[in-house]
Amino acid sequence: MKILNLHSVGKLVYEDREIPEPGQNEVLLKVMACGICSSDEARVMETGTYHFPTVPGHEFAGQVVKLGEGCDPALLNRKASVFPLLPCFQCEACRKKSYATCADYKYFGSRNDGAFAEYLVVPAWNLNLLDDCVPYTTGALSEPAAVAHHAVEMGKVKKGDRALVIGTGTIGLLIAAFCQQKGAEAYVAGRRKESLEFAESFGFKTINTADIREEVDRLTGGSRMDVTFEAVGSNQSLEDAIMSARSGGTVVAMGNPKGDEALPKDVYWKILRWQLTVQGTWNSAFRAEGDDWKAAAASMKEGKFPFERLITKKYLLSEGDEAFRFLQDKSLHKSRLMFVMHEEADRLLKEREESRK
Ligand SMILES: [Zn+2]
Ligand SMILES: [Zn+2]
Repeated sequence: MKILNLHSVGKLVYEDREIPEPGQNEVLLKVMACGICSSDEARVMETGTYHFPTVPGHEFAGQVVKLGEGCDPALLNRKASVFPLLPCFQCEACRKKSYATCADYKYFGSRNDGAFAEYLVVPAWNLNLLDDCVPYTTGALSEPAAVAHHAVEMGKVKKGDRALVIGTGTIGLLIAAFCQQKGAEAYVAGRRKESLEFAESFGFKTINTADIREEVDRLTGGSRMDVTFEAVGSNQSLEDAIMSARSGGTVVAMGNPKGDEALPKDVYWKILRWQLTVQGTWNSAFRAEGDDWKAAAASMKEGKFPFERLITKKYLLSEGDEAFRFLQDKSLHKSRLMFVMHEEADRLLKEREESRK
């Protein structure tokens, strides 16, 4: 089989490896699609990972093609995405089924080899089964969708709420989608014209962050937002998230900070005076109460939100360099980029052929 193996920062090599054998309670997944996350961009182009070489890729879906001993025979041939975190099942958090906060976890695509590969062995426990009607490429958006769903749950968004997402990335737009699904009015704030237009194309109201405070006041008649989401990871957007929340409202902190977060005194003061709830969110709930993966799979099956439109461009596994070059070109608006394999690769080649005609 073919894999994309990261040998050092910036050196992603397309190479061969033996197809692995599933062990006890493991399955062999024929990987059909794997998204490229912004964390992969950092891993491949800037920071590297825990060890070299490592096969990146943690946002994937595929078909179960082989079962190890002890697996439910009904799993064979099923479509599934995969919870990429491998919990220790020993620690306090794991005992409480809070697997995402496990003290000693492993992870596909960072600590362990991931799914920039044609096949991957995964524990049956980590499978998130998908309905047959869900395309593999949609299924590969399960991880960002589950993370977004979790943030909406943590923000306790409810029907009739006004919710503001600051950040127009894939997860930001998915947060807005789940807010809408809950019956809330979803607003998305960003800076780039193309990103805001893209958000509008999903039916979200948009706000330019350059004049966010005035716009929030204007659009809400001064009563501001019930829940705000910081999905950028910057000082400015955290300030904006706080200043856009109503008195007694909730600010959900989600963006991965690029540096220290510091707040001006008058902004901090608003947390106190407005009695805001500042709520963190981390990863997603899997095989536990409020399973975000099941919710994502249900939403994909329902088909109301056009998940596929979040995929800007698909690449063959042999086009790793090209994909990361495109990812790094910040002058272009983009949402998810995705590698496709097997039948999905054939489909891509056919699409390219068609577009050339
Ligand atoms: Zn990711
Ligand atoms: Zn644990």
